[in-house]
Amino acid sequence: MNENLWNDLDVEATLDAPIGALTWYKSGGHAEVLISPRSVEALQTLCQRFHESDIPMRVLGSGANLLVADDGVDGAVVRLNHSIFQEAHWHELDHGHPTRIGAGTDLMALVQESARRGLSGLSQLAGIPATIGGAIRMNAGGSYGDTAQSVHSIELLTTNGELRRMDAAKLDFGYRHCALPDGIVIAAHFNLRADDAVQIRAHVKEVFEYKKRTQPMADRSAGCMFKNPIDPSTGKRESAGRLIDLAGMKGKSVGGAFVSERHGNFIGLLAGGRANDVLALAFDVQQRVLDHSGIQLEREVVIWSQRGDVL
Ligand SMILES: Cc1cc2nc3c(=O)[nH]c(=O)nc-3n(C[C@H](O)[C@H](O)[C@H](O)COP(=O)(O)OP(=O)(O)OC[C@H]3O[C@@H](n4cnc5c(N)ncnc54)[C@H](O)[C@@H]3O)c2cc1C
Repeated sequence: MNENLWNDLDVEATLDAPIGALTWYKSGGHAEVLISPRSVEALQTLCQRFHESDIPMRVLGSGANLLVADDGVDGAVVRLNHSIFQEAHWHELDHGHPTRIGAGTDLMALVQESARRGLSGLSQLAGIPATIGGAIRMNAGGSYGDTAQSVHSIELLTTNGELRRMDAAKLDFGYRHCALPDGIVIAAHFNLRADDAVQIRAHVKEVFEYKKRTQPMADRSAGCMFKNPIDPSTGKRESAGRLIDLAGMKGKSVGGAFVSERHGNFIGLLAGGRANDVLALAFDVQQRVLDHSGIQLEREVVIWSQRGDVL
């Protein structure tokens, strides 16, 4: 990789970076280079140069919905962990504007901070590990609601470095879905409303406790491996965890990877286990559910590998 692509820019770059270790699985391979830009302009120039040189560029959030295969990825991985991408402009609320939040901001911290300020709109996301960019891309959510319900608009740097503002309506948000064009979300604007702080905090607590009760939050995982599929016979969403359970896969393992006893849709990984164990077990689960119920599970977790990203 030609270091002149970033040497003159305000960025921090690490060659042969162990990005798998930065995911919630804490396993998986390296990227040719990991880059943390310190300004939007630096990121913009990076996008332009990588685009012109035809070098693949990916963006890493908090790695909570990501598996990096053991052979890693070619090209560059960008991480928005500099403070410039973690700013919140709360004052905009006073003027009736949506609140602008940098895409590298930690979602859990943001949920707490907005509750502390007596602002509602995000409490449905309590307990979900994410950056704002990752939460937008996945439309993170659960039984209490999703990210989309309070998004006003986003700021996106396209792959060739063009800065675009997109309204939420253009993003076609759906269940764990967002029609995000290729590029990097650098900020999101949220519609937050002044509300009763005590009630908001109580709601945050309720959502968080429900999550802790029903999901193995302490395991190394990427949350739900599969989306809840639509059952063709009823037209309704069926729980993937239930289908995995019915297919007899709870507790099954491959190497260090195991299907959680607590929640069949979580594939955990023991310390020292390999990312490819998770991949092999996920394929196995998919096949067994297909054999058992005739339903093809679609993966929710994003997988990065040398052979191209597995969809
Ligand atoms: C214990 C646990 C519990 C979980 N519970 C839930 C839950 O209840 N509900 C739920 O929906 N999810 C859940 N998840 C999954 C995960 O929290 C969400 O999918 C979250 O949105 C991932 O955000 P991230 O920043 O970690 O993204 P990453 O995992 O880092 O990336 C995911 C995808 O988003 C893209 N991306 C990241 N940042 C940007 C950006 N700035 N611009 C463009 N694309 C970007 C990445 O390129 C990748 O394609 C859970 C995960 C764990 C580990």
